[in-house]
Amino acid sequence: MTLAQTQPQALEFDCDTGNYHTFCPISCVAWLYQKIEDSFFLVIGTKTCGYFLQNAMGVMIFAEPRYAMAELEEADISAQLNDYEELKRLCEGIKRDRNPSVIVWIGTCTTEIIKMDLEGLAPKLEQEIGIPIVVARANGLDYAFTQGEDTVLAAMAHRCPTADQVTSAEEKAERNSIQKLLSFGRKKEDVAAEESEYHDHPPLVLFGSVPDPIVTQITLELKKQGIRVDGWLPAKRYTELPVIDEGYYVAGINPFLSRTATTLMRRRKCKLIGAPFPIGPDGTRAWVEKICSVFGIEPQGLEEREAKIWESVEDYLEIIRGKSVYFMGDNLLEISLARFLTRCGMTVQEIGIPYMDKRYQAAELALLEKTCNEMGAPLPKITEKPDNYNQLQRIQELCPDLVITGMAHANPLEARGISTKWSVEFTFAQIHGFTNARDILELVTRPLRRNDSLKDLGWEKLVKEEAKV
Ligand code: SF4
Repeated sequence: MTLAQTQPQALEFDCDTGNYHTFCPISCVAWLYQKIEDSFFLVIGTKTCGYFLQNAMGVMIFAEPRYAMAELEEADISAQLNDYEELKRLCEGIKRDRNPSVIVWIGTCTTEIIKMDLEGLAPKLEQEIGIPIVVARANGLDYAFTQGEDTVLAAMAHRCPTADQVTSAEEKAERNSIQKLLSFGRKKEDVAAEESEYHDHPPLVLFGSVPDPIVTQITLELKKQGIRVDGWLPAKRYTELPVIDEGYYVAGINPFLSRTATTLMRRRKCKLIGAPFPIGPDGTRAWVEKICSVFGIEPQGLEEREAKIWESVEDYLEIIRGKSVYFMGDNLLEISLARFLTRCGMTVQEIGIPYMDKRYQAAELALLEKTCNEMGAPLPKITEKPDNYNQLQRIQELCPDLVITGMAHANPLEARGISTKWSVEFTFAQIHGFTNARDILELVTRPLRRNDSLKDLGWEKLVKEEAKV
């Protein structure tokens, strides 16, 4: 039982050793090659990277994925082989077999350490083979897990055309595929009538890779407010990357896209709408409201919409209300999820997070603070670059009802009677928008429901002697 705070407090930030488990950022190829249908990802690394991808991607590797490893050999490392010739040979092979519209080179730890100049090689090779080559340094030295997507999207932001570059009507339609999709199969008059329902506002491009159903849901959500989405980065195909001109407004859909946001602001001269992220009904409402306020639009019916969603998930809320949750931290979604779970009535004991961009996440942090104060919940400590060893000691002391963690600690913690949820599932599940709040709660409550139905068996603690860590 925690007492309601009478005085609003400020969030406390801490930074530990960075000794924690997470996926390597090259894992972003797993969802990005599926999202960008005409792409091919070439990871230039060693067997270490290959083993990781092969195992982490599970059954997907049997589906002829559009990714491959360029495995560096002894002779590459000692510069006896010519990097350019080797990459040319591989890329020509990819062009012949798959004919993609873009090849994305993923730089790894090894290419960093031997200082392979991928950015320098790419433009020359691009000219020679006639396929765009985008370079992203998604390595384990600099980044964690979902930040891999950030490096790829930041590189792609440079490739979005300006309005002057897109001249033919056909290409214009292609670059605006989301509007095309919304008016698919409709009569011309209907489409024209619908166009007039939009408010007159500057162009808006959203960034962040989410599955296509979410793209449609979010676009329709904004359409209800009379806001037109002019494009998504990334689009379904590389050739459909949206037009981005100076002065366009951009809004992020995921909390880990700070480099992409910076690139769009600094290089493409866009205006960033800093909002909480559309995760959970509270976040989605705040996100839509912020975009409306930037465009001077009065939001319509959002309050009722949010209330309806909360009502529809009451069965799940009953399970978690009053329970405590601990985020070990490995995918950067933690702040948004913690804010949502606090609103659900949970107490968040600690939020571990690999990297905290206080500027990009400012609105989300403010909403977390506000939510805690409104719910009378204590403000959680945010631990950047956590140390898993220290966290396990704290978990032992705090005995949280649920620990959100990676696979390395999940089973050992379960065996010690602590319920866990595997954090990676949040990255792959559909968690954005109003309608997917149920999916998040399904994930969060699953271990609690399972352990609840098994508790009469008396098998909660399976470790005989509590190993001292
Ligand atoms: S951490 Fe480095 S070496 Fe390991 S898989 Fe990632 S890129 Fe490869």
